[in-house]
Amino acid sequence: MSEMLLEIRNATKVYKTRGKGKQEVVALQDFNLSIPKNPASIVTIAGESGSGKTTLAQLILGFTRLSSGQIIFDGQDISTADAAQIKDYRRQVQAVFQDPFGVYNPFYRVDHVFDLVINNFKLGGNAADRRDLMERSLNVVGLRGEDVLRKYPHQLSGGQRQRIMMARAYMINPKMIVADEPVSMVDASLRASILDVMIRLKEERGISFLYITHDLSTAYQIGDQIYILYQGTIAEKGNTIKVIDKPCHPYVQLLVESVPVPDPDVKWDGEINLPPEEEMRSSVHSGCRFYPRCKFHMDRCLQSQPPLYQIGTDDHEASCYLYAEEQMAPANQA
Ligand code: ADP
Ligand code: MG
Repeated sequence: MSEMLLEIRNATKVYKTRGKGKQEVVALQDFNLSIPKNPASIVTIAGESGSGKTTLAQLILGFTRLSSGQIIFDGQDISTADAAQIKDYRRQVQAVFQDPFGVYNPFYRVDHVFDLVINNFKLGGNAADRRDLMERSLNVVGLRGEDVLRKYPHQLSGGQRQRIMMARAYMINPKMIVADEPVSMVDASLRASILDVMIRLKEERGISFLYITHDLSTAYQIGDQIYILYQGTIAEKGNTIKVIDKPCHPYVQLLVESVPVPDPDVKWDGEINLPPEEEMRSSVHSGCRFYPRCKFHMDRCLQSQPPLYQIGTDDHEASCYLYAEEQMAPANQA
């Protein structure tokens, strides 16, 4: 068994909202994921709005705590890590968010943002070393120092800003970057250049990505593995191309159908018309969460949540009783 960079075991996050009735929202339920150390890979987490993607990112980044389960990075459970291990973890796992520069003061120039990082992670030597590190990091994402370092965020395009955020993350020399909807605010024509930066950081620098998106077409362009979430649970997972080319879960079939058909003359702009998501979620819920919207639903779907069933012979799996029979078949024939 190859060594794991990130392992998430039975991760569950329940938000308790205050007020009358004290409602509980299960944002993530019994979620499992593993990313091997080698080779570096891009793992996509896809799903419509509210499916739990950002919750997963926030849990991994330590911004919020698990209700139950474990997150293990490089063999260390992050909930029991000591201060030195946490410090190291904060370097190894970097984040890129939807809104580039959203966390920075708009009056900071790009070089100041980089200075903050260099000071925080004690990266620089003298001024020339620092400048060299900034230049090299910008070159990795296809930018030139003299073009951007003295600029303010509003003087740059969304695509440039997001590439600067990738350069900032790269500068820290992480093993993994958690990218939560990094291209959804970027002009469609510039998205490919950012996806390309991610592929290059993976292939040339050995950085793995957790790529979070509501958009299957960008996942298709970059992803190695994909996990498709529906209301906080995995509907389907596996090799990205296989899952999108041959979706098995009725929900994922709907999602894929709603992606425009690839036509060489029409550029995918990546926007999907998702089916409406109205059902309220609560922690008291048995059976498949997709039941009310599923055209194949059966009585047993109400009894308990379907486990992930293997499709074919590889790691393609779907959480749907339609595939339970396939597994039973060989035994029945014997
Ligand atoms: P996504 O990123 O896929 O849109 P989120 O992880 O943001 O999904 O949200 C998952 C679910 O958890 C949603 O139903 C959302 O309303 C709920 N949720 C997210 N954050 C909080 C919070 N801080 N308090 C209460 N509920 C939350
Ligand atoms: Mg989100």
